[in-house]
Amino acid sequence: MDTNQARGALLKLRAQALEQAARLDAEASALRDAIRTGEERVRGIDDPATATGAVADTDRISSVMKEKVAAIDAALARIDAGTYGLCVVCGKPIPEARLEFRPMAADHVECASRA
Ligand SMILES: [Zn+2]
Repeated sequence: MDTNQARGALLKLRAQALEQAARLDAEASALRDAIRTGEERVRGIDDPATATGAVADTDRISSVMKEKVAAIDAALARIDAGTYGLCVVCGKPIPEARLEFRPMAADHVECASRA
């Protein structure tokens, strides 16, 4: 995978993650409104505790998506800097298979687990 392919893959993943985060934020916000106004039943959740849990879950997944966007931005910056595909921990090339599976990977599996 050359850097042009990597950039394309990263931009696609970035757009998907942003779209998911936006959808989740809208969902969480609608749930919060429903809880505040006591309309949980309208949204199909009878138990306020379940609704509150659903808000927390939605917020958590949205945060994961935003962290993913940040990791993608960092990978795009490494492409611009000419260091894409090199491990940020040890500096050696990251295996192609790992980059194909996770284009925003910044390190080796072993280096990541050591950090
Ligand atoms: Zn490494």
